[in-house]
Amino acid sequence: MLATVLHKPGDIRCEEVADPKILHPTDAIIKLSASCICGSDLWPYRGLQPVDGPMHMGHEYCGIVVEVGAEVRNVRPGQFVVGSFCLSDNTCPHCRFGFQSSCVQREFMSGAQAPYARVAQADGTLVATAEVPPAELVPDLLAVSDVLGTGWYAADAAEVRQGSTVVVVGDGAVGLMGVLAAREMGAERIIAMSRHASRQRLAREFGATDIVAERGEEGVARIKDLTRGVGADSVLECVGTAESFDQALAVSRPGGTIGYVGVPHDVSLDGQRLFFGQKRMLGGPAPVRRFLPDLMDRVLKGRIKPGKVFDLQLPLADVAEGYRAMDERRAIKVMLSV
Ligand SMILES: [Zn+2]
Repeated sequence: MLATVLHKPGDIRCEEVADPKILHPTDAIIKLSASCICGSDLWPYRGLQPVDGPMHMGHEYCGIVVEVGAEVRNVRPGQFVVGSFCLSDNTCPHCRFGFQSSCVQREFMSGAQAPYARVAQADGTLVATAEVPPAELVPDLLAVSDVLGTGWYAADAAEVRQGSTVVVVGDGAVGLMGVLAAREMGAERIIAMSRHASRQRLAREFGATDIVAERGEEGVARIKDLTRGVGADSVLECVGTAESFDQALAVSRPGGTIGYVGVPHDVSLDGQRLFFGQKRMLGGPAPVRRFLPDLMDRVLKGRIKPGKVFDLQLPLADVAEGYRAMDERRAIKVMLSV
């Protein structure tokens, strides 16, 4: 089959690879309904994460099960399924505590920018719908797999509640999904930090009540103004740079909570600042599996349309153009038809 392979930074190709096959009795093979490019795929693409040999790219997926290993019980061929980028057994102590992204058997999904993919730990990882959903819901269900699940975790980890004041740092796809999640959780005030008109528009559509275009000290001052000098109850850090962490800490009120889901790069935290600022923090790779049944239900009922985050759709053969468009921020998130 033709699939996406990163050979070295900047060198991404759609090329012939072996079809995936069952390697363990707990595996499943799915035929993808669609795939997409993640912001985190840009780290190796930009050379900011080492590439040791050809990498099979793609970890967001939904589709139809075509084959299962001998020990798989919870899903069967013909079912439509969604899974997370973290493959998990959903039975170990960390999974049962709701942190499937720290499963003792955790593996990270790869090779999903392709027509077919192998999913390890299929019983713990995949959630099936009752019926095969209509094609128009595929972008929304695909978004649940990672980008919405991660934005949702940011809001959950930041303890967004009915009536909360929320700041979302980062207007990438995850930040925009964080806005949607905060609205669904009943936040009263959702302040999105964004400097780009098209992203500001989408943030408003997903539920942002205010937009702050300023950054750094000016951004902090604007948010203090908007919150009568108090700061935010919940801050969603959706970038992962030293600047974005600094922004998140500065706008969070004492006793407030920061949910951080941007993979930190060159971030170090000052213990005394955390101590005297009384900041609560929870983050990491999102345990999307915990949220999958609820989020899939919201999509199937037509309550949320997270698929609007895809603003460019390309055939898999043009995957290189998709990476370029996201790298140059011409696209928020690219969906790939396979
Ligand atoms: Zn587990």
